[in-house]
Amino acid sequence: MAAQVYDLAVIGGGITGCCVARDAAGRGLSVFLCEQGDLGGAGSSATTSLVDGGFRHRDRFALGALREGLRERERLLEAAPHIVRPLRFVLPFRKTVAQKTLLRAGFIAHDRLAGRRLLPPTRLLDGHDPAIEGILQDDIAGGVEYSDCRVDVSRLVILTAKDARTRGASINPRLRCVIAERDGSVWRLSLESSVGDERFVVTARTLVNATGPWTAAVLNHVVDAGRSTRIRMVKSTQIVLPKLFEHDRAYAFRTSDRRMIFAMPYAGDYTLVGSADEDFHGDPEDVAADIAESAYLTTTLSGYLRQPVYEDQIVWSRAGVRAVRADERSGARGADRDGAIEADGGEGRALLISVYGGRVAMSRRLAERVVDRIASGRPAGKTWTTGAALPGGAFEIDGLPSLERALRAAYPFIGERLARRLAGSYGTLAQSIVSGARMMDDLGRVFGANLTEAEAGYLVREEWARTTEDILWRRSKLGMFFSHAETEALEGWLVEQGLGGPGTKTIHTW
Ligand SMILES: Cc1cc2nc3c(=O)[nH]c(=O)nc-3n(C[C@H](O)[C@H](O)[C@H](O)COP(=O)(O)OP(=O)(O)OC[C@H]3O[C@@H](n4cnc5c(N)ncnc54)[C@H](O)[C@@H]3O)c2cc1C
Repeated sequence: MAAQVYDLAVIGGGITGCCVARDAAGRGLSVFLCEQGDLGGAGSSATTSLVDGGFRHRDRFALGALREGLRERERLLEAAPHIVRPLRFVLPFRKTVAQKTLLRAGFIAHDRLAGRRLLPPTRLLDGHDPAIEGILQDDIAGGVEYSDCRVDVSRLVILTAKDARTRGASINPRLRCVIAERDGSVWRLSLESSVGDERFVVTARTLVNATGPWTAAVLNHVVDAGRSTRIRMVKSTQIVLPKLFEHDRAYAFRTSDRRMIFAMPYAGDYTLVGSADEDFHGDPEDVAADIAESAYLTTTLSGYLRQPVYEDQIVWSRAGVRAVRADERSGARGADRDGAIEADGGEGRALLISVYGGRVAMSRRLAERVVDRIASGRPAGKTWTTGAALPGGAFEIDGLPSLERALRAAYPFIGERLARRLAGSYGTLAQSIVSGARMMDDLGRVFGANLTEAEAGYLVREEWARTTEDILWRRSKLGMFFSHAETEALEGWLVEQGLGGPGTKTIHTW
């Protein structure tokens, strides 16, 4: 590892770092990425999973940013139609004509601007729509129904990392950068394995700090940047409640303090509600949902729903932190949502680029800006990620049902449920998990919730999975359907493979 001088070293394997690695590798740069935990295991796996076109830009009439966000949303849908799904949102309004007129005008402008090609247009709902009548309070007169998407961000990170690896990047989860020293025109990174005692040194011409909420800590304590940096951290909380409504649309509710919270169908029997944004001070590793934020969410929901909800109905909650470059006046909600980059160095001093903030929908574009900056003045290929499919995603955006049917036709024994899950998680690559099998037994043990040994093996071999948490809560969301005993059995199997084991085991219970 030590001999090669990479063009680029990336610290942080969340969505930002992986997108940068993929883009740069595709332009012919040699890339090394280290992630101290699991790929996407921090902020990227805690998102509300919305690929929103830029709700807040619309509110602020930031038309250029809104148009770009809407375009990126469709690009992401086209690049990964297996893990990005269109979702219709209902934004209710109360019985005031002004509110209705304003909302309607805003959304019509939104649709026109969008140059919408793939997603259905906005429409007005009256108070008798099944998403309103009987579910929302009587003073809700109607709503605006609009399109957005949701994405499995954990899988998006993995697919991006896989594509980066295919294009030549060295992707190294569970490797922590402890020191990055600038030595003239190169960076020297000291790295420590998070699961063993190994230490490595890697040298690179450019360093990208894509550590999300750790950006300032890494700049202040890891990277020898010669200055101290302050960022603002914003904590968002989500709660999961037993299913609150039967239809497949989601809700966007405006709060009395002008924030938005979302309630959307989740894992069949549940409703996910998020998120309350609050400034956060502390170590991102220690972030957890707290009672006040959960209460804020249930109280806001109860202000809209006919049946109030209470904190004791919460079955699960989680919180995450994201970093923003602080604009002291804008508050937690306003700052840097589409991401910002800061460069330091050049002209004989090795380049350092730090990334702040960002949204999932904008991650491809943000990475492109980072790599444009690195590639300038260096022999590198042209931008290429617009329109490039992610692994398993090279099919039509409405092609998932036929992918499922083809899988079932070739492997009838797997049944409808497993075919749907495999196609929806792996797209065209689902075949490679079941390839060669003639009956269910050929796929090995079933650990629980139709997770087979063949699939778990694929996740270990192809997707860097090491722990039950990686498999059950990030590569899949099957953890919700796994009993304690089933999780233990999977853990035992991982240990047999030389994985899992002390320090890597987390068992979630509901
Ligand atoms: C609760 C929540 C909900 C959100 N919801 C949405 C949403 O619905 N839609 C949307 O578009 N955006 C959403 N966001 C924003 C989105 O999640 C972030 O923009 C995105 O995940 C940031 O990714 P990242 O790669 O920059 O950071 P992260 O995913 O946090 O990745 C940074 C990585 O750096 C690693 N790291 C840190 N220090 C080191 C080191 N020394 N060595 C090696 N690795 C290191 C960390 O382990 C971590 O994995 C949400 C954010 C949060 C917190």
